[in-house]
Amino acid sequence: MPRRTKTPGPAKRGGKRRPGRGRKEPAAERERRARAIVARLADAYAARIELDFDNPLQLAVATILSAQCTDKRVNEVTRSLFKKYGTAADYANADPEQFQEEIRSTGFFRNKTRSILAFAQGLVEKHDGVVPDTMEELVELAGIGRKTANVILGSGFGKNEGIVVDTHVKRVAGRLMLSEEDDPEKIEQDLMQLIPRREWTDFGLRMIQHGRYTCSARKPGCDGCPLEELCPSAHTFD
Ligand code: SF4
Repeated sequence: MPRRTKTPGPAKRGGKRRPGRGRKEPAAERERRARAIVARLADAYAARIELDFDNPLQLAVATILSAQCTDKRVNEVTRSLFKKYGTAADYANADPEQFQEEIRSTGFFRNKTRSILAFAQGLVEKHDGVVPDTMEELVELAGIGRKTANVILGSGFGKNEGIVVDTHVKRVAGRLMLSEEDDPEKIEQDLMQLIPRREWTDFGLRMIQHGRYTCSARKPGCDGCPLEELCPSAHTFD
């Protein structure tokens, strides 16, 4: 949840020219705006992940389960799952049909079972059951794309190797006009150019919270949004 929401005052609908709207924004200006956005987000949200985990293996499993599912539901499922499956070998040797039932309520349970079991088998075969801490090694494992690898590296190992671009980050980055790209990896590259590296993990975590709790898909809360003055899309949904 947001730590607190600043209220910058009501926007002047129509009268005020928004930053970056209706013209090509110079690179230096966009960079300054991006840094101001980083600062505002840091003021508004704690940089925290809402998935429960105690180690990188648990984080990887929870992240795979979180696709198209709320973190709350994932946490309910992993509470018992993590007691039963403690090591990569436990997952690698799991009975797929039973595992499907154990994670069924997270949705897409057949695909998620395939991903988690294949990921664990890769860990056992190539990494002695230990989750590696480099992007190159992680994305070579079955079930792990760049987004999941960024979550593991950032929140599991404290390494700023990239920026998580999930559905929330994609939508908010577009509204903020920090990227005009549609492909998550290209959006990530644009954000990495704009955001200082030391902020990558925290920025991603805060953008996710901002997308969940303020800049929602259907009804963004522009009134009282901490980024309102910096957002080219503010009140364009009214
Ligand atoms: S001002 Fe509105 S569109 Fe812009 S980031 Fe805030 S909630 Fe989203």
